[in-house]
Amino acid sequence: MAVACTLKPVTELRGVGPRLAERLAKLGISQVRDLLFHLPLRYEDRSTRVPIGRLRAGEHVLIEGVVELCEVAPGRRRRLLCRVSDGTGSLTLVFFHFYPKLQADLARGTTIQCFGEVRDGPGMPQMIHPEYRHADANDEAWESEGLTPIYPSTQGLQQNSLRRLVKDALLYAETEQGLPDLLAGLGLELPGLYESLSYLHCPPTDAPRDLLENGSHPCRHRLALEELVAHHLTLRRLRASMQQLVVAPALPPADRLKKPFLSQLPFQLTQAQARVVAEVEADLATEQAMLRLVQGDVGSGKTVVAALAILGAVEAGWQAVVMAPTELLAEQHMRNFAAWLEPLGVEMAWLSGRLSGRSRQAQLQAVADGRAQVVVGTHALFQETVSFARLGLVVIDEQHRFGVHQRLALREKGREAGVQPHQLIMTATPIPRTLAMTAYADLDVSVIDELPPGRTPVRTVAVASSRRPEVVERVRAACAEGRQAYWVCTLVEESEVLQAEAAEVAAENLAEALPELRVGLVHGRQKSAEKEAVMAAFKRHELDLLVATTVIEVGVDVPNASLMIIENAERLGLSQLHQLRGRVGRGAAASSCVLMYQGPLSRTAKERLAVMRETTDGFEVARRDLEIRGPGEFLGTRQTGALQYRVADLERDAGLLPTVHRIGDRLLAEYPERVDALVRRWVGDAERYGQV
Ligand code: ADP
Ligand code: MG
Repeated sequence: MAVACTLKPVTELRGVGPRLAERLAKLGISQVRDLLFHLPLRYEDRSTRVPIGRLRAGEHVLIEGVVELCEVAPGRRRRLLCRVSDGTGSLTLVFFHFYPKLQADLARGTTIQCFGEVRDGPGMPQMIHPEYRHADANDEAWESEGLTPIYPSTQGLQQNSLRRLVKDALLYAETEQGLPDLLAGLGLELPGLYESLSYLHCPPTDAPRDLLENGSHPCRHRLALEELVAHHLTLRRLRASMQQLVVAPALPPADRLKKPFLSQLPFQLTQAQARVVAEVEADLATEQAMLRLVQGDVGSGKTVVAALAILGAVEAGWQAVVMAPTELLAEQHMRNFAAWLEPLGVEMAWLSGRLSGRSRQAQLQAVADGRAQVVVGTHALFQETVSFARLGLVVIDEQHRFGVHQRLALREKGREAGVQPHQLIMTATPIPRTLAMTAYADLDVSVIDELPPGRTPVRTVAVASSRRPEVVERVRAACAEGRQAYWVCTLVEESEVLQAEAAEVAAENLAEALPELRVGLVHGRQKSAEKEAVMAAFKRHELDLLVATTVIEVGVDVPNASLMIIENAERLGLSQLHQLRGRVGRGAAASSCVLMYQGPLSRTAKERLAVMRETTDGFEVARRDLEIRGPGEFLGTRQTGALQYRVADLERDAGLLPTVHRIGDRLLAEYPERVDALVRRWVGDAERYGQV
């Protein structure tokens, strides 16, 4: 059958033996199809000869001339020098590796063509190890009608071989079936799949090289679109399969508990919170499992939204679980939820990795027999030993700490009980909308795009660490006014031991410099009871200054704290800096954040500090972060490989994303039989997203 053609192993192509196959495998090429989708990095124009007299350093050009001299130059490093002239000027070819045959080949009087990069040389321009041939040669690999593609390659694999192999592969390319012809109907005029592949591998001489190389040519768009649609459909299928298998419990809004809950809050919900609560309630009321991501900047008040969802589950007789990425944050949630929910008669349980022995047993028992209605904890919650009586809702806080895979694992966990629990995921890292639509195609997204009233934006400054004494004075002044401050120590090392030691030293020094202040210390090496005691004391304002490692990055909430000092801020990424800064500016007082840095700063570090000074808007920070780092790293998925695209670039191709969704809808409705092949081509046989 024709379809199978490009699925043949590359060894079926002319001249591909085991050695070559092995090298190709290093580039991820094992089938003929892989060659087709191995796209050029850049192109060279070998169609027009440039007179030697007009060469400029840095250009890749074709020249033709007569060899005037060819000799081995003496010296520490033997090299073959060959002077070529064409009447407009002369050029030296330099070869460091050469055989006698080369010297014979370039004998005086021979007319040759060379292609290479022009460099400045002594007295005249040079080309080092150019590709060359005799002007009258009939050389197939060299001969190229249009632009010459340069491919990503690997040691021992010549461009010439790659070019020849791709050409052979293109003979099969017509059997590749692309997206059906529904693009025109969507207002998109893009060339077909086959057309695009052959154009990208063999563009004509007058093709716009810049567009081809920067990915904005319609043929590139075509491929990017196919790839994005394939990824999108993968996530949608995954979602559909999860939702079909098992039904979720219908959880109507908490009529009885909601009123007393809201009336005990010291504030009213913002409009954005109320809107998101309504979205969540609508999801929960059906038997289709909710899969909703709530995005909201730090301090936008996501916790209350979660609490209302939880009340719905509790009132309907189901259990809810809240999972946080760190002990500290889980403890804080436990405190918050206990303060809100226990007065309403809700039974709580607590599970963390540090809990052991009898108390752990007791908590597990309460979870298993259903006495515990709300369970808070860290990822310890998802160990095999934990089983729930009637789990109806899973709340995951600070999603960016968990990968796509963990999220999917949680879903599995919930299904053990025979129902699919609803899932509410809260992220404090606002993800740019376009990115969210693709990376989280299996989730619905709600955005809390409003901060509670009365907050003043945090003022951010960057100061060199040599100005530490001034910074210490700032802490003194702020605390003298009855405010509190954080002092965060960072270390490059991942080691918690070193981090802790650095923080201990800093705390001692600060306590000495600021004897009138009550200084506390939290770090990851402390027992959770100890940490909790310190945090609680800080919250009660029994401490003025809290020295900490980055453990306090997420979620910690002390409205009276108005000054955040971050030492060695240059070591942290933008999202971490933004999270830390989000610890202040939570009350009505004007807050500031001091980023202390140790110079000299790298370019990206400079950029990051500048972004922090310029904006406090989490979405803007995220957008700039994306610009600086690229989507893979941004989502923390680079290592897992879940979001690696071959052609598409989420930022560059953002404009295609709305179309991706519409095409996805129509494909599923009108051409369901085409979906499989598309997904298999781009995402692979194993649905990578589903592997956990
Ligand atoms: P985050 O979205 O970062 O998790 P939190 O839920 O911790 O934010 O809320 C931050 C602070 O704002 C808390 O002190 C919380 O009590 C308060 N808060 C939440 N919603 C409102 C509101 N509508 N009005 C005033 N304060 C609010
Ligand atoms: Mg939070």
